[in-house]
Amino acid sequence: MGALVSAPDDLPLPFPTSLCHRCAHKRDVKSARAWFLRCVELESKYAPQPVRACPLFALRPATENP
Ligand code: SF4
Repeated sequence: MGALVSAPDDLPLPFPTSLCHRCAHKRDVKSARAWFLRCVELESKYAPQPVRACPLFALRPATENP
């Protein structure tokens, strides 16, 4: 039985200036060594980063975690 691998807490925030970090459509996808920004609105799932403007942007409520 293989060991479970979880993402370390000290992964650096990817593309900190990306608009996706403030968007309700972003989902964080983390592996042991990487942190990806997935978009639930895009068919391609991953936007070229950093996103500076996006017609699908929806401001994430302030009460939600980043
Ligand atoms: S809708 Fe645009 S801004 Fe929002 S997560 Fe997707 S790509 Fe990023």
